[in-house]
Amino acid sequence: MADQYLKIVNTPAGKSVAQSLGLPTPVNLKRWERSDQPFIEGQVLVGAAANPRAIETVTNILRTSPANVFHAAGPDTLADSAKVGAKSRGLDLSSDIEHTFSALVFDASGIRDTAELRALYDFFHPVIRKLGPNSRVLIIGQDPKTCRKAANAASQQALEGFTRSIGKEVGKKGATANLIWIAPNAEERIESSVRFFLSPRSAYVSGQVVRIGKSDADADKTNPATPLAGKTALVTGASRGIGAAIAETFARDGATVIVLDIPPAMTDLETVAKRIGGKPLACDITEENAPKLIAEYIEDLGNGLDFIVHNAGVTRDKTLGNMPEHFWDMAIAVNLTAEERIDEELLERKLIKDNGRIVCVSSIAGIAGNFGQTNYAASKSGVIGYVEHMSRSLKNGITINAVAPGFIETQMTAAMPLTIREAGRRMNSLSQGGLPVDVAETIAWYCNPQSSGVTGNVVRVCGQSLIGK
Ligand code: NAD
Repeated sequence: MADQYLKIVNTPAGKSVAQSLGLPTPVNLKRWERSDQPFIEGQVLVGAAANPRAIETVTNILRTSPANVFHAAGPDTLADSAKVGAKSRGLDLSSDIEHTFSALVFDASGIRDTAELRALYDFFHPVIRKLGPNSRVLIIGQDPKTCRKAANAASQQALEGFTRSIGKEVGKKGATANLIWIAPNAEERIESSVRFFLSPRSAYVSGQVVRIGKSDADADKTNPATPLAGKTALVTGASRGIGAAIAETFARDGATVIVLDIPPAMTDLETVAKRIGGKPLACDITEENAPKLIAEYIEDLGNGLDFIVHNAGVTRDKTLGNMPEHFWDMAIAVNLTAEERIDEELLERKLIKDNGRIVCVSSIAGIAGNFGQTNYAASKSGVIGYVEHMSRSLKNGITINAVAPGFIETQMTAAMPLTIREAGRRMNSLSQGGLPVDVAETIAWYCNPQSSGVTGNVVRVCGQSLIGK
């Protein structure tokens, strides 16, 4: 069921009524619309603390966009590393006071102690109110786990609270704030992530922290319009909802997609497959022989898989005391056990190619827990544990990550009672539900060939939900 409130508050009369009653006034989020769309436009302000590590890379990435890039007056080290050509110049805020920014990007990777945190205030304080609608804040820091000194780790961890709080302040403009923590020598691995977090593809991702590590994979240049060209993907639960959106987004980005769902969903599955030029595969992933069946299907195609997305999922809600045992068994079997068994089979037969991607779909219920969902939340927490552990043992450049959707507008959420649905929609920094495509875009970013340093992450696609940590 469409979000009628979002439509109404985006009319002049609706907006003024909502404002006078103190109700939320969510803005229409801008999403990715066309393949030749630049990842960012407008005016972007870039700044850095002393000894920045990523500023040069960030600046070079921004140069590939039509955005006007300004550099805030910063430490001396910035002057040399920020030579960006005619499009950019130093910014004097007293004379450039009329600017509205589409993004503020700050390289905080050089902050070594708590005193140096002052650089955050100095950069953001004068300009934070100059962010335009649907704008972006992106902060780059060093992964605290890789810091040698306590003061360094403390100041880098501080970026998390800072970023999440900015997200809450700017969300009413439809703006997002996210943090990238890089490991030492991982500066060259941030391109796909910078592009993603600055672009409309991340419209519903806010308050998130992503760790990027070193990687031995070739950082091949990709065509930004079709970054997944030549790749083969398998998406489970793809006959509808989020799974269908993942399949469509992969196909849009150039991949060949095998779409899988249970036999009763075949008609819908075939419709999706036809629409995207994909291949339908009928399979109940909880069947004993499902991993073997899937592996043999991939073997017959002959080329192995580049991506597998474990999206199929079920809810079987009841409070624990009222829950029949088959509710418990089914949620665990579909949402957790099946993906472990399928991956085990595919990895053993070497059917996931080098530099391949495994993506699992968790849920904010797996982070925060939810009333009546002990089975579902256990399965979705288990997914997070699985991803974190597997990321330490996978070889040959294969990455594994999870997305944790919040309230997404699907058949599942449309069936909720009105009051619960409305609460779910509004209880986040953007005051609205996400769309299936928002989850799909995040998964496509994980699968980008340049995201080889992104592994073991759980990114919430929840508009920075108030629920959970
Ligand atoms: P959905 O019910 O619309 O789609 C799930 C798909 O999985 C269906 O097509 C279903 O037939 C398929 N499936 C179920 N059991 C299967 C099995 N045994 N074998 C093969 N396929 C099977 O759900 P959705 O809202 O699109 O959710 C997709 C994923 O996102 C799920 O894992 C869900 O838990 C997760 N999620 C959704 C939301 C949301 O707000 N919609 C929020 C958090 C997480």
